[in-house]
Amino acid sequence: MNMQAVWINGHGGNEVVAFGERPLPARPPGHVRVRLHAATVNRVDLYMRDSGAGITHQLPQIMGLDGAGTVDEVDADETLLRPGQPVVLHPGIGCGRCEFCQRGEGVLCVHMRLLGEHRDGTFAQYVSLPAGNVFPMPVGLSFTEAAALGVNHLTAWRMLFTKAQLKHWETVLVFGIGGGVSLAALQLAKLTGARVIVTSRDDAKLERALAMGADHAINGRTQDVAKAVLAATGGRGVDVVFENVGEAVWASAMKSLVRGGRLVTCGATTGDQPPADLRRIFIRQLQILGSTLGEFKEFRDLLAFVQRSGLRPVIDSTYPLEQVHAALDRLESGAQFGKVALRID
Ligand SMILES: [Zn+2]
Repeated sequence: MNMQAVWINGHGGNEVVAFGERPLPARPPGHVRVRLHAATVNRVDLYMRDSGAGITHQLPQIMGLDGAGTVDEVDADETLLRPGQPVVLHPGIGCGRCEFCQRGEGVLCVHMRLLGEHRDGTFAQYVSLPAGNVFPMPVGLSFTEAAALGVNHLTAWRMLFTKAQLKHWETVLVFGIGGGVSLAALQLAKLTGARVIVTSRDDAKLERALAMGADHAINGRTQDVAKAVLAATGGRGVDVVFENVGEAVWASAMKSLVRGGRLVTCGATTGDQPPADLRRIFIRQLQILGSTLGEFKEFRDLLAFVQRSGLRPVIDSTYPLEQVHAALDRLESGAQFGKVALRID
């Protein structure tokens, strides 16, 4: 049997991204086959399309990290999941054996295989993956909204709460509002009661962020971000900087932190080698925290939080699976506000 899917058959631009028929994935014991209804595009999909360097994978490979759908087939003795159940996927498949997996830090697994990076992903009608990666979907969300949780909100959750230990009386500065992870951070931080300052180079995006509850907005094109942050915090600075922009904002990010503040990063879109500013780090006793994705237990907490709080991920636009090129172009343009999604019929 075949299914519709999107895969890469090489590297370099949309011409290597194909839509068509691929064999239905086999389901080994202990795995769940999910009939996907939605996925979203992530920056990693652009990286896999254009280079994939440093990521062990075999071509052709089905793209896509996150997804939501319904259970198609499970083991007969499966106790937690049943056919037809709406589910959302955690994209990281750990080995379960390395020192990190064994001490309960699967997200650090040295043999981690991510959907759409090291193995077939979610831009397809079906995917088969270990039952541990398949979670019941929060009630009230669309498949598209649920799909957005698996990478974006999980990443932002771990960054804010596990890594930076954001408290609800603190202030967080979120760079580059409009991107999926940044918007997830705005939503999560606001719902927990923290004060949120956002930056963008686009006034329209800042206005939308303010409408979503951001407390203060700074245009990084027309304003000095660090000065504006100090002005907005009575000269104090923020407790936490949340960023994935990298080099272009690093200096202002460091200058925006209060003494003892924490900077947490999950990306380096504009470059990964900014000056370290070491004197500032030790004299002001700053913490620089790296993070990527999140644990199963963090995903479980996030899903419970989404259910409880009513959080709805922001969807910029939705394309049918066969229009994946347009979806990738939309993400690459940087014009989006929220997640660019794929609908899988
Ligand atoms: Zn491992």
